Amino acid sequence: MGWFSRIKSAVRQVVRVVSEAVGRVLGLGDLLFGFLTFPRKRLRLHVAILSDANGPLVTEPDLIPSIDYIKRVFKDRFNVDVLPYTKSYVYTLPDTAPAAALDVNEGVDAWLADFGEAGDYFAKHLAGWNAAPVSFTFPVTVYVIRDVIGKKGNSPGGPLVDYVLLDVDGVRLSTSTLAHEVAHACGLWHSGTQSNLMYKRDNRGDGAKGWQKNLLRSSRHVLYW
Ligand SMILES: [Zn+2]
Repeated sequence: MGWFSRIKSAVRQVVRVVSEAVGRVLGLGDLLFGFLTFPRKRLRLHVAILSDANGPLVTEPDLIPSIDYIKRVFKDRFNVDVLPYTKSYVYTLPDTAPAAALDVNEGVDAWLADFGEAGDYFAKHLAGWNAAPVSFTFPVTVYVIRDVIGKKGNSPGGPLVDYVLLDVDGVRLSTSTLAHEVAHACGLWHSGTQSNLMYKRDNRGDGAKGWQKNLLRSSRHVLYW
């Protein structure tokens, strides 16, 4: 991989760190005073289904349970309306994706993949970034990939990356994984409580604690406009 794409990856990381920091400062009111009042906020979601040599990995209607789930839980727990970034929540990327983007290891490897061929592919299709250098709505893009090895979803880099990964099992066998990964992108980390949305395994509940609500609502992805 060439030096130019390495520089581009590094620039992407720096821009995200800066926008995350600025976003948290702007969200400070919600973080500190959110216990007093919870006006409605908004999060824009963009789901992109990858294709391999056999075509799209899942169909667009396959995503309906996961999207209904995140809309309900984010509204009930955080008073956040999850809206589509463009006309529809779900799109299919028809061109065959590179192998590096189709199967991704979880954790640090997923974050490292962001610097490589997979990261270039994800950056190219990211909502908000292909239209303008910086979007004013900071949507979260969910890529539906073939396999997050050993898991059903991943949030590489947590709040520092504008996309999360959901694999075919995460779409077909779980309705909560999409919401769980998007909450990671909004800065929440794992909870040991099974009834919590941030419980690691997918037999999790849909609960959230007060401080999780404040933290999520102070994310740059969660806006008043
Ligand atoms: Zn998790």
